[in-house]
Amino acid sequence: MLDVLPVRTPTVPPATHTNCYRLGRAVIDPASPWPDEQERLAAWAGPVDTILLTHHHHDHVGGVADLVARTGARVFAHADARLPFPVDVRLHDGDVVDTGAGLLRCLHTPGHADGHLCYRVEDTGDIVAGDMVAGHGTIVLIEPEGHLATYIASLERLLPLGGRLLPAHGPALEDGPATLAQYVAHRHARTAQVAAALGGGPLDPEGIAAIVYAGVPGVHLGLAAVQVRTHLTWLVERARVRAHADGTYALE
Ligand SMILES: [Zn+2]
Repeated sequence: MLDVLPVRTPTVPPATHTNCYRLGRAVIDPASPWPDEQERLAAWAGPVDTILLTHHHHDHVGGVADLVARTGARVFAHADARLPFPVDVRLHDGDVVDTGAGLLRCLHTPGHADGHLCYRVEDTGDIVAGDMVAGHGTIVLIEPEGHLATYIASLERLLPLGGRLLPAHGPALEDGPATLAQYVAHRHARTAQVAAALGGGPLDPEGIAAIVYAGVPGVHLGLAAVQVRTHLTWLVERARVRAHADGTYALE
């Protein structure tokens, strides 16, 4: 039985916590850098010997060193993950980890982070989804690590597997395939909006963000421009948009 414990982390608002999951002797993403939360997590986790990471972002790995010191557990992460502490076992797509209470299959899902892994609970079909999807808020892609076409390919790869999605932030998403289809459609719709914004002439990402996100309450335009860049890259890669030396973009 998969358990979840949200721990407080310095993550991306509106999220305030990162979900730590436990199956058998394995804990996924012991995330909090703060001692009170690490204490709580250790009491909840009990005797574990395996720490699995979905990816290397700071709001997922802050409690790893502490849990290793308490338990001696070995740390498992994808071969491409860049971590500031030792990794004992480098995982690859298709690897299976025996937790003592069920098998977890590793699914390499880059696009949000290099070396991002989802873990599929083989008994139930549930997928521990890391930062591929979010129970609330949105998934931020930051170039160059964040890459829209790669991210969409990873979403589409998860889609036929079925099962619930258990995200790192927020509640479980009961209809995994419907959620994944929505995420893919949303990114394509946003790409179309970005292309449409260029219909009036060349703009830089900030100018595009001001148009595309005009109706979104409370939007942070700097962060929105970072997202716009990923859509521009998608369009440039398909020769629908070209980048100018002055930082603006134009339709081909
Ligand atoms: Zn992340």
